[in-house]
Amino acid sequence: MDIHEYQAKEVLSGFGVTVPDGALAYSPEQAAYRARELGGDKWVVKAQVHAGGRGKAGGVKVCASDTEIQEASEKMFGMKLVTHQTGPEGKGVYRVYVEAAVPIAREIYLGFVLDRTSQRVMIVASAEGGMEIEDISAEKPDSIVRATVEPAVGLREFQCRQIAFKLGIDASLVQQTVRTLQGCYRAFTELDATMVEINPLVITEDSRVVALDAKMTFDDNALFRHPQISELRDKSQEDPRESRAADRGLNYVGLDGNIGCIVNGAGLAMATMDTIKLAGGEPANFLDIGGGATPERVAKAFRLVMSDKNVQAVLVNIFAGINRCDWVAEGVVQALREVDVDVPVIVRLAGTNVEAGQKILAQSGLPIIRAATLSEAAERAVGAWKNDLSQGVKLRAIS
Ligand code: GDP
Ligand code: MN
Repeated sequence: MDIHEYQAKEVLSGFGVTVPDGALAYSPEQAAYRARELGGDKWVVKAQVHAGGRGKAGGVKVCASDTEIQEASEKMFGMKLVTHQTGPEGKGVYRVYVEAAVPIAREIYLGFVLDRTSQRVMIVASAEGGMEIEDISAEKPDSIVRATVEPAVGLREFQCRQIAFKLGIDASLVQQTVRTLQGCYRAFTELDATMVEINPLVITEDSRVVALDAKMTFDDNALFRHPQISELRDKSQEDPRESRAADRGLNYVGLDGNIGCIVNGAGLAMATMDTIKLAGGEPANFLDIGGGATPERVAKAFRLVMSDKNVQAVLVNIFAGINRCDWVAEGVVQALREVDVDVPVIVRLAGTNVEAGQKILAQSGLPIIRAATLSEAAERAVGAWKNDLSQGVKLRAIS
């Protein structure tokens, strides 16, 4: 799960990282009011979206008066900010963050990531701050400083000092840099983050080390341990299909194709997507309905898949070990009676109670296309979809 910049700054500041003074606003008037509260004569208005690259896309504006703040935020509110990280559809701006501007002497890149090769938290830093890490590694790979942290002992001071020296940070600022690095590391591990990125970490003209931007991503599977973090979730920034799935406890990832998949088990879901591609189709989603698929759960999965308007055929592929084919079959029948499914539905069942399951499907009177194997199911799904296209009309599974 991602959180907003202002939220990440609040979290990190609780771990001793210095951040600029700032306040959140939900309207242009409130933004101007917040700036007056903060005081000073220069502010930065920052669109709060779950993506970086806002500066180049018009989502970060330095302002010197009330009027400028109002105008800058009026442009941002309601806009779909398109940056290189959002995809072409962009992300909606519903909150802006107003900060007292900081006089920058130097910009540094600082990131904490999980390095899967060493199975450690890795610190990635570069004196080339302000650029995205992808550009730094393409254009200035030698500027990147890396260090991994031994989990049993944590991030040691000497490691932090080494990083500071490699970045050419003045000796008088090393202590502040150590505090920043250790604060980020503690936030990362104590809150089960998978990424902390401060780009830029700046050295100010008055010799302070300040996190000017902050990004944090958390491990979804550990959120239950951190209710104060899960409360920071902002659904307006998520793929609506994926938020609906998360709310229903289903594992769903939306894709660009048109064959909807309802499968139990992540491995089988991957295999199903591969087989669809092999048969010449494109999956519309990854969906793992999990082990105990009750009829209600299958119906929920159907609703979710059918809410994607690109879906032109649905393939249900169940291997029942913990599951029972008769339950799944009941779920499919129930879903087809309740949900408006106007595309061909192909069902392949195998495993526990398969005969009972097939019987339920056959006796339902619904035009369900049954398949004996996964490859047959995939071919039928792709065939049904192509047939559909050639006829120029949608088959109706139920009228
Ligand atoms: P991003 O583009 O989404 O990564 O947004 P950032 O928060 O990193 O802001 C982009 C750029 O705006 C930074 O690299 C800075 O150069 C500039 N900027 C942001 N805040 C300030 C500030 O307080 N003072 C000054 N002078 N520049 C700022
Ligand atoms: Mn940034």
